[in-house]
Parts: sequence; structure tokens; C-alpha cells
Amino acid sequence: MTDARPVRVRFAPSPTGPLHIGGVRTALFNWLFARHHQGKFILRLEDTDQKRTVPGSAEQLMGALRWFGLDYDEGPDIGGPYGPYVQSQRVDLYQQWAQWLVEHDYAYPCYCTPERLKQVNEEKEKRGEQSGYDRHCRNLTAEQRAAREAEGITPVVRFKMPLEGETVVHDLIRGQVTFENALQQDAVLLKSDGFPTYALAHVVDDHFMVISHVMRSNEWLPSLPLHWQLWDAVGWERPQFAHLPVLLNPNGKGKLSKRHAGFTQDGKQVLVLAKEFMDAGYLPEAVVNFLTNIGWSIGDDSEFFPVSKTIELFDLARVNPADSVYPIEKLDWLNGMWIRSLENDDLARRLRPVLEAAGLEVNTDVLLKVTPLVQTRIKTLNDIVDMAGFFFREEFQPAASPDEVIQKKMDAESTRDALELAYDHLAVVSTWTHENLEAAMRALAEELGLKVGQLFGSLRVAVTGQQVSPPLFETMEIIGREESLRRVKLAADQVAAVE
Ligand code: GLU
Repeated sequence: MTDARPVRVRFAPSPTGPLHIGGVRTALFNWLFARHHQGKFILRLEDTDQKRTVPGSAEQLMGALRWFGLDYDEGPDIGGPYGPYVQSQRVDLYQQWAQWLVEHDYAYPCYCTPERLKQVNEEKEKRGEQSGYDRHCRNLTAEQRAAREAEGITPVVRFKMPLEGETVVHDLIRGQVTFENALQQDAVLLKSDGFPTYALAHVVDDHFMVISHVMRSNEWLPSLPLHWQLWDAVGWERPQFAHLPVLLNPNGKGKLSKRHAGFTQDGKQVLVLAKEFMDAGYLPEAVVNFLTNIGWSIGDDSEFFPVSKTIELFDLARVNPADSVYPIEKLDWLNGMWIRSLENDDLARRLRPVLEAAGLEVNTDVLLKVTPLVQTRIKTLNDIVDMAGFFFREEFQPAASPDEVIQKKMDAESTRDALELAYDHLAVVSTWTHENLEAAMRALAEELGLKVGQLFGSLRVAVTGQQVSPPLFETMEIIGREESLRRVKLAADQVAAVE
């Protein structure tokens, strides 16, 4: 699979806005490949389109990579032997190579104005031809060039694409792909502002950063013949290429996008941005596991496995070349599996900041007791706030309405009676353990001819203030006798008021 060169791969995003999950997936596959081959994973910022660069997005994306555990060995903020790793700091190098290509007749200066290019395209369109540059400046003589320079026109530099024949490329996922040269454009390599385009900049960088494998989105495949010819022109050893399947919107139509991703079955907006996953209470392990399963399979049917196993088995041969529909419905399931797999301390450590962000005061002892109770019940870390936030509230918030305390087929009076008796029975439970509490309350339900669900339901709302909570008696055990009794009394009074 790999050639003799040491594996060096890169993730090369443009810092033009929030990082998409598709970008994280590209980074992940590069990282997995590097780790599998004990190679290097490099982060390079491709910020040569200065107009589109969004301040702060580089920092955000570096933070996101760290959050997902995709540590890079060389990059803008940590340096490395082939830096700088930010393209806007390497412009001289691109200009030098653009110049070299012109001097060696692989590229040419083009003086056409945007107005002319527009006109050419309009005329082509009228004739029903494919749009694109008509190569007007490709064969200018030295005198003609000099005349234009004398007029003060700053040219762009365009690549001289071969006009005939084919470019046969090889891709590790797609095999051999053939492109007709006549259908290709003379692409711009250097813009009139002196900045390179992606085509030139990434080839130069991949060479000088000694990149062995270029793994990127399949959207770049149509540009590969241009890149291939550029590599040939400069005569450098080409990296190997692997064009990864694109993520499609859940309805299967179009590339996954924030605007078109739609809603999940339970009506939630489909998450698309890396930050949305980070904020929604997903574990990085779960998202990484989720992304690994898109377009790649471990070989058997298993879908839940740690990244160490993926690293061990990662192989581009198992990447499915077909674009993949975004299986967002798997994420909550996987996240739940991951949450359940964590040690108590570890889960508690991750739950703490979520509770704190919700303005709750976290007592460590209580948190360590609550954690195992919620572990099987939450799908995301954020779920803890609704499910068990009451443990950490300074002041108990009873149910908003007494109706919530009153269970099916009961009324205010029978509920109050039941709660008062519950109070008496609870007050005399010998040792305040959940087993003893449950035994006492089951006995009481039977004595009163109530279904356990009726009595337990009222007690749950009484003690927690809500209808859904961690197991009732474990909850009461944590809350303690005195406070549990106070709440039961409070609920009895609340119900009595509507009798
Ligand atoms: N800057 C390009 C992008 O963000 C990088 C593509 C590549 O990996 O070469 O899509």
C-alpha cells in the first residue's frame, strides 16, 4: 500500500469559517493512516484566499482537532522541520516556482482582464461550448508580453495544460482514472495579487513538506489531472493520492451542508459543524467512532470499537469509494455505548463542566454517587442537566403544579393520604438505604391497594420535582432522610391546597 517513503500526511484546511464534520473526517482518516504506519500527521493552513479568511477560525480548528484527539506532529502553532505551516507565510516560495514554470515554458503570464474573460465566456455560452479561458495569452510573443508589461498590466500566471492526449492518474481508493487533456483548463497558478491558487500552493508545499500521501475529499478528483501535470512539470516525486468519499445530506441529496442537512427523526437539527458536536455533549471517542464507520469498515459487522483498534486495522483498501449518506441516527446510540463504557471517575470528570456551565454548584461526593445512576440513562453528557440537575440546585424546585404529583386514577385527596403515610413509613425506616426504602414503599403501596407506579410516581415528583429522574430510591438515598422527608411533606401540602 505504501511506497518506500516514510509516511507523512497532512490535513490542509482553509481557515474560512467553522470546521465542518466532513473536514474532521478527512483529518481523522489522515491521522489514522499516519498512526497506523507510525508516520507523521501534519496540519497546514491554506489561507492564500485572503478575502475568504475568517479571523479566529484557525485557532478554532486547532482547538477542535485537539478536542477530537487528532494530535498533529507538525503545525502552525507547534512548528516542525518544514515550516512555516501557514501558506500566507510562504508566498515567496510559490512566486519563485511560478517564475520557474514560466521560464521553463510550463506556464505563461496572462494579461486578460476580468471583463474580457467574462465576454469570452458569454460568447462560448452562446455557441453552446464549455465555458473557460480561450488561452488567448498562451502564445504571446516576447514583444507582445513586453508591450503589455509596459502598459502596467499585472498578469496572472496560468499553467500550460497539454492540449492533447490523456492524463492517467492513479488513486489508492479509485484505481486508475483517465482524463482527456483537451477538456482541461489552463488554470491560474498565481493571481495578480501575487498570491498562489490552491493548485500551485499545495503542490509546492506537499513537495517541500515531503508529503508521501495526499488524502483529501473526492471533490478534488476533477482537479487531479492539473495537479498531476504540475508534478510532472516540476519533476518532483509525486505523492500517492487517495480521494475520500464525500458525506451526503441524510436525504442522500447533495454534499452534507449546514443549510441542507435537515432534521433528525426526533426533530433536532442535524449536526454538521465540529463545534456543534463539542457543545452538544458528545464524547470525542464517540464522534471519532461514528466518523470512522462512514465509508470505512473494520471488516466484521461491529460498529462500536476504540480508536486503538482502528489504528491497528486501518487500511485504505477498506474505504468504500461511493459517497456516503450521513448516518446521523447512529450517533446517539454510539454515544450512549461510549458513555456506558467509561469508568465512574472518568464520566464524572466529563459531567462536571456540563453541570457547571448550567450554573449548578457541583459537590464532588454527590456527583460521584449520581454518576452511576445516570450512566445508563443519558444519551449525551448534556442530558444530565435535565435528568439530574436537581441534585445540585441550591434550592429545591418543587413541581410547577400539584397536578404533576397526582398520578393516573388518583385524585388530590388519595395522593395526599398516600404521601402522608409514605412520610410516616419513611420516617421510621431503620437504615436509609435504597433497598430498605423500596421495601417500605412497596409494602405501603400494597397496603393502600395502589399500583407501585402510582405511589412511586407521586414520590418521584415529590422528591425530585420532575417526572423523569434517576432511580427513585437511589436518589432518595443520596438526598438523605431529612431532606427527602421535607420534600414529601411539601408535596403533600401542595396537593392538599387543591383538594
Ligand atoms: N485547502 C483545501 C481544502 O480546504 C485542501 C485540500 C487538500 O487537502 O489538499 O479543501
